[in-house]
Amino acid sequence: MSEPRQCSRCGARLGPGIPSWVLRIELTANFDGTLDCSSKAANEADRAIETVLRQIEWMDAETLENQVYQFFEFTLCRDCRDHYSANPLYIT
Ligand SMILES: [Zn+2]
Repeated sequence: MSEPRQCSRCGARLGPGIPSWVLRIELTANFDGTLDCSSKAANEADRAIETVLRQIEWMDAETLENQVYQFFEFTLCRDCRDHYSANPLYIT
């Protein structure tokens, strides 16, 4: 027997036959492929790389992975689906 479902947002119990929706969010690092190759930019890039290397030196693997990829999956009831879809980016 499967566990009772519930809404990830409000906690409403979603018994048998009660409609629900699955919200999947995939968040990936984006790179547009553009590199500025001027000497000034190269110097800035070198400094930026050194800064990043110093920052990640103490990060664990999970934290590093989260910097480039995250996946979330939620079950929503009808009200929470309506609420989410009305403003998915939570713009105020
Ligand atoms: Zn809900």
